[in-house]
Amino acid sequence: MSNIRAVRGMNDILPDETPHWQHLEQTVGRVLGAYGYGEIRLPLVESTRLFQRSIGEVTDIVEKEMYSFEDRNGDSLTLRPEGTAGCVRAAIQQNLLGVPRRLWYAGPMFRYERPQKGRQRQFHQIGVEAFGVASPDMDAEVILLSARIWRQLGLAGSVTLQLNTIGSSAARQAYRAALVAYLEARRGELDEDSQRRLQSNPLRILDSKNPQTQALLDGAPALADYLDAESQDDFARLRELLDAAGQGYVVNPRLVRGLDYYNKTVFEWVTDDLGAQGTVCAGGRYDGLVEQLGGKPTPAVGLAMGMERLVLLLLAHASGVAERPADAYVVAVGAAAQREALVAVEAVRDRLDELVIVQHTGAGSFKSQMKKADKSGARMALIWGEDEVAAGTVTVKPLRDEAAQGGDPEQQTVPREHLEATLVAAFADRMG
Ligand code: ATP
Ligand code: MG
Repeated sequence: MSNIRAVRGMNDILPDETPHWQHLEQTVGRVLGAYGYGEIRLPLVESTRLFQRSIGEVTDIVEKEMYSFEDRNGDSLTLRPEGTAGCVRAAIQQNLLGVPRRLWYAGPMFRYERPQKGRQRQFHQIGVEAFGVASPDMDAEVILLSARIWRQLGLAGSVTLQLNTIGSSAARQAYRAALVAYLEARRGELDEDSQRRLQSNPLRILDSKNPQTQALLDGAPALADYLDAESQDDFARLRELLDAAGQGYVVNPRLVRGLDYYNKTVFEWVTDDLGAQGTVCAGGRYDGLVEQLGGKPTPAVGLAMGMERLVLLLLAHASGVAERPADAYVVAVGAAAQREALVAVEAVRDRLDELVIVQHTGAGSFKSQMKKADKSGARMALIWGEDEVAAGTVTVKPLRDEAAQGGDPEQQTVPREHLEATLVAAFADRMG
């Protein structure tokens, strides 16, 4: 029988990568906390209707990327393809919308896409949503907090901010008609995807990657010429705030988003370091969505970061987070020694929980245990043999040359009750 393997596009994240994930999560949690955002934890599964009504029936996600299924009751459910819809659903249902509300969440999302580097079927996002403020100072906040996250991750030099406004839905309708008229007349010159989108979602043609289509768009009507005055004013004000904060950006008049609920500000953080999957974070304003999902009219702005892509960037920049090696490795030969060691090390852990102490488990000669100790990367071995058990002592043996040169004492045998003090002295650099 062949072995069962992970589902295509759904990856295991292994211990040599998880430190980067943890670093990312901790950094984001810290920065968002400092801006007054609270974490919300949402279900992975929602009613299919939620996504149809929010993301839009004719978007790529709803048309062909959702994992939808009937449960045993015959209800149509969907593994969430993104987080905003569920967050808005929860904010309405839990009455969170009376005052400006700042929320964030992190976790897996599911889309049936063609897997490639930086594109999975199960991927992870960190989402940020700010409800209740219509003015562009809130857009500026969301953008500036993401910029702060890149700085703290050491990625500020690798990403640039692209910015646009897509106006009100009325302005977009007028523009849509003009764009479709222009492109209809040149239908034959469009790539296949764009021909299909001409009916369903013509604005998406603007961010087609096809060079011929892009060339064709050079002569097309510009969205900027159709914008309503309020959107133009808000965009000018946002740019003024970003300028004042020293935040650089590139206005990209063809930037649109793949989900229907956006209006006014849209933005993306992009990198050249990841090939085709260059967008690491995308966001914008979605003032109509809360009402559309049955809540009181509530303006909102948010963003979503792609965690896989950010981790790839962190790995590419080898930003000094590594799997943590052991500090001490416990070698104990024989049943009595194992028991002594277990009890002594448990007592040490009670007090010194910042140290990584790896206990040798299972059988093994002294020699083979010492080999494992060495391989673990630990700075020292804590050794219990027959002599130590008889004398109530433990032998502390430095394992790393550099540690020894740094002034670590030679191997020493100390009374068991001095073990904790010996470790505190040896790891003084580590103790807060
Ligand atoms: P793309 O154009 O790359 O398909 P998108 O517009 O579909 O992105 P959003 O729905 O805006 O993406 O999601 C926000 C972010 O989540 C993206 O910028 C990206 O970093 C990440 N992301 C989206 N889909 C995937 C995926 N299948 N695998 C990994 N990351 C993803
Ligand atoms: Mg996509």
